[in-house]
Amino acid sequence: MRTYKIAAIFGDGIGHEIVPAGMEVLNGVAAKHNFQIEWESYHWGAGYYEQHGVFLPEDGLEILRRFDAIYFGAVGLPSVDDTLPFKLFTNFVRTHFEQYVNYRPVKLFDGLQSPLRNKNQTDIDFVIIRENNEGEFVQTGRQLYPGFTEGLAIDTSIFTRKGIERVAHYAFKLAQKRRKNLVNVTKSNTLINTLAFWDKIIGEVAAHYPDVKYTKMYVDAVSANFVLHPEYFDVVLTTNMIGDILSDLGGAIMGSLGLGGSGNINPEKTFPSMFEPIHGSAPDIAGQNRANPIGQLWSGALMLEHLGEENAANDIMKAINMVTSGPLRTADLGGNSSTRAVAQAVLEAL
Ligand code: ATP
Repeated sequence: MRTYKIAAIFGDGIGHEIVPAGMEVLNGVAAKHNFQIEWESYHWGAGYYEQHGVFLPEDGLEILRRFDAIYFGAVGLPSVDDTLPFKLFTNFVRTHFEQYVNYRPVKLFDGLQSPLRNKNQTDIDFVIIRENNEGEFVQTGRQLYPGFTEGLAIDTSIFTRKGIERVAHYAFKLAQKRRKNLVNVTKSNTLINTLAFWDKIIGEVAAHYPDVKYTKMYVDAVSANFVLHPEYFDVVLTTNMIGDILSDLGGAIMGSLGLGGSGNINPEKTFPSMFEPIHGSAPDIAGQNRANPIGQLWSGALMLEHLGEENAANDIMKAINMVTSGPLRTADLGGNSSTRAVAQAVLEAL
């Protein structure tokens, strides 16, 4: 029987509720499609940091390397400095495992209304490809004399030819499999060094894919167009920070941040890829069985797709759509269904 070894990292907050819910659904779909998942669970994150002074143990990466993929919830607690989860966990894993593609689909589920009142499922269906290893988030800057009148601070962005080319090729290949339309989201009219370089290299890569319609658009215009004309978009290729911001906007136009799934992908499969919802650990609703599990379930479907179990992945998506077509709604979507009830309904739909 096909067997996949998956590390489940619960993280913090609602991670403890939505990751187990996702594991149950994944076990259900695996049984239906004749494969099995061997899980190992890890309670790493900000809670672990409070006890041990680290987000994951010293040999954490070595442990994770042995798995086929990582199924992750979210990290962060109000009691822990909010600059640490990204630096010491999420970005740490993403960069060490060369997960240079952050794959973030935006799609309207059956039965759900977008806050964009005239837009339907054909209008809202695109994928954000966020560069995930460099750009604005490399954290190489520093503060000098912050408490003095002479105080100053610098953050530098790093963009490399290799880093841009590899994510661009991934995005154009994806566009070839979709509606053959790629928008490069940039701000090279003001960031005249880094993003002009980004545009130049993406333009060069675009020349290898003449069947894909290639457009460059500034991020300010894209923000407006996500709201006014989401139907313009098919594959949206952008930088680390711009992608971070735009994907929350993408989550919002789907109806809730709780719906968005994502993959941190190492396309070469040299390292395991990591799948997580786009939202954070939502400490405000943690422990109440109220979190929407759909973003976590969608992340599970993306993981199966990455592992080559496309039929099983499609089944999860169909089951989610069957549930969203019905009456069950968690609080973020205006209802009062529980996390468990929604996940159970997806399992039954399967
Ligand atoms: P991060 O910076 O790690 O993305 P954050 O602090 O910006 O996290 P979230 O933890 O994503 O934010 O929470 C933002 C808001 O969205 C909160 O009010 C939270 O309750 C809500 N939210 C996030 N995820 C879900 C979910 N799965 N179901 C319901 N509500 C959610």
